[in-house]
Amino acid sequence: MTTKTQPAPSALKKYASTTSVVSRPPSPTKKGDGIDIGTYDGALERDVGDLVYGEAAEDLALDSSADKTRPTREWHLTDFEIGRPLGKGKFGRVYMVRTKTEPRFIIALKTLYKSELVQSKVEKQLRREIEIQQHLRHPNVLRLYGYFHDEKRIFLMLEFAGKGELYRQLSKHGSFSEKRSARYIDQMADALGYLHSKHVIHRDIKPENLLLGINGELKIADFGWSVHAPGNRRTTLCGTLDYLPPEMVEGKEHNEKVDHWALGVLTYEFICGSPPFEDLSGYNATYKRIARVDLKIPPKVSAEAADLIRKLLRYNPAERLPLADVRRHPWVVKYRSKDGSNAAQS
Ligand code: ATP
Ligand code: MG
Repeated sequence: MTTKTQPAPSALKKYASTTSVVSRPPSPTKKGDGIDIGTYDGALERDVGDLVYGEAAEDLALDSSADKTRPTREWHLTDFEIGRPLGKGKFGRVYMVRTKTEPRFIIALKTLYKSELVQSKVEKQLRREIEIQQHLRHPNVLRLYGYFHDEKRIFLMLEFAGKGELYRQLSKHGSFSEKRSARYIDQMADALGYLHSKHVIHRDIKPENLLLGINGELKIADFGWSVHAPGNRRTTLCGTLDYLPPEMVEGKEHNEKVDHWALGVLTYEFICGSPPFEDLSGYNATYKRIARVDLKIPPKVSAEAADLIRKLLRYNPAERLPLADVRRHPWVVKYRSKDGSNAAQS
C-alpha cells in the first residue's frame, strides 16, 4: 500500500537468503497481489492487552529472527496490510494479512496476548509449540513461517488455510462420503508418519485442529499439545475426552500410538458424524466406553472402512495399525485420486 514503510531491497535480499518464507512459499499463496484480503476491523489497535513482567516476560520474548538455527528477518506488525479476521482463538484473534514487501505474501497472522498466556500458565507450552512447528515441512502440516512480539502480544506468521476449518465442513454436511473421508485419512496418515519420523507426537488430533488449504487439502494445525516422544505421563486432561486413547484416560505412559488411535476416531467421526465413544450422559460414561473400547460400528459403514477403524482402535497401542499400512489399506487405496493430489473436495 505505502512505499515508505518498505525495507530497502538489500534487506529483502538478506531475508530471502536466510529463510524460505519469501523464496519458496507454498504455491496457492505464491503471489498475494490482487487477492482480496477483506476488511480489517481495527481491533489490533484497540485491544493491546496488559504488560507482563519478570521471568514470564523473558519466556515470551519470542522472535524468529533470533533463532540460531533458522533466523528469519525481523518482523513487525507494520510490515503487514491487515485484512479480515479469520477467527478467534483462546488467546487472541487470527487475521488474513499480506506482507507489504514483494512478493506480497498472504499469510494468517495469529495474535496471542501475553497477559492471558501467563494467566493460563502456558508460556512454556507455547514455546514448545513454536519450537516444534517451525521446523516442520510437510504439505499436510500447517507451516509456521516466523514469529515476533511486541510488549504485550506475540504474533505467529502461519500458512494461510484458504478453506478454513474442517470442523465447519463436518458440521455443515453432518458427515462425509467414504471417498472424501478416505482422502482425508490418507493425508492424515502421511502427515502423522512425517511427524512421528521427527519424533513429534501431536496428541490432539480432532476436527477442530484441522484446517483446509485452498485446494481442499488437509493441514494439521494447533501443536499446543504436541511433544517430542516419549510423551509425559502426567498429562492433565482438559476439554473433550472423545479422541483420547485408553492409556491416556487411564493416566498411563503413552507414545506416538496415541495418534493412531485418534486417526481411528477421526475415520469413524468423518463417516458417522460423531465420535465412536461419545456418551452424552457425561465424562465418566465416555471414559468407561474408551477404557473398554466399547466400539459399535453402524451398518452404513462399509466393511472396508470398518476394518480400518477396528485395526486402529485397539486397546493395546502396539497392535494399532502402522501408518504405512493405513496408507496401503484397501479402503484408502480404493479412493486415492489418480493424480495423487488427494485433495478431498466431494
Ligand atoms: P481455539 O481453542 O478456539 O481453537 P486457538 O487458540 O487454537 O483457539 P486457532 O484455532 O488457532 O486458535 O484460531 C482460531 C480460528 O482462526 C480457527 O478456528 C480458524 O477459524 C482461524 N484460523 C486459525 N489459523 C488459521 C489459518 N492458518 N488459516 C485460516 N484460518 C485460520
Ligand atoms: Mg484451535
